[in-house]
Amino acid sequence: MARYRDAVCRLCRRDGVKLFLKGSRCFTDKCAIEKRNFAPGQHGKDRKAKIVGYGLQLREKQKAKRIYFVQETQFRNYFEKASKTQGVTGDLLLQQLERRLDNVVFRAGFAQSRRQARQIVRHGHISVGGRRVNIPSFLVEQGHEVTVREAASKFTVIEAAQNFAGNHGGPSWLEVDRTAMRARVVGLPKREDVQLPVNEQLIVELYSK
Ligand code: SF4
Repeated sequence: MARYRDAVCRLCRRDGVKLFLKGSRCFTDKCAIEKRNFAPGQHGKDRKAKIVGYGLQLREKQKAKRIYFVQETQFRNYFEKASKTQGVTGDLLLQQLERRLDNVVFRAGFAQSRRQARQIVRHGHISVGGRRVNIPSFLVEQGHEVTVREAASKFTVIEAAQNFAGNHGGPSWLEVDRTAMRARVVGLPKREDVQLPVNEQLIVELYSK
């Protein structure tokens, strides 16, 4: 599947919910969902049919992929790995998505969106355990320390992200020190840590057919 290069707000409008893909803009009245909450395209307003069954399962999968900016093959691999691991498959699927390095950078408040976090990682501004890692899909483990490299700590985008995050701490599985620009992974993400509008059970049903 080719990388999506169109306006990301169309993805929210397609799913009819805020997916929070653009950082601070998502919390303003400039948000496309606030202004035009109907599917994009010429006939978007006319699409009123209720989605059920397979369509609903497909939408949930697309939503999760869009939130984490993961492509189909990689998403499928996460599912395969989750289904082979002991535990609740849906929870394990979300856990892997949450453990991605780009997501950790976003959740720690070093970027305003997962997309921005991915770029920061790609450009080599993040270290894990003191070693530079520029792979957004790198999965963090308990005990890892994720740091913004010194040269990047004064970047406007990172400072703006810090201001945007304000006093909000990261999720319970991350111990965030914003002054030192460091986040320690103190546990593994649980389902309740993932506050996203995704029904992972429908994704499991889709892939289990
Ligand atoms: Fe989605 Fe954010 Fe765009 Fe609103 S501003 S439509 S939440 S990406």
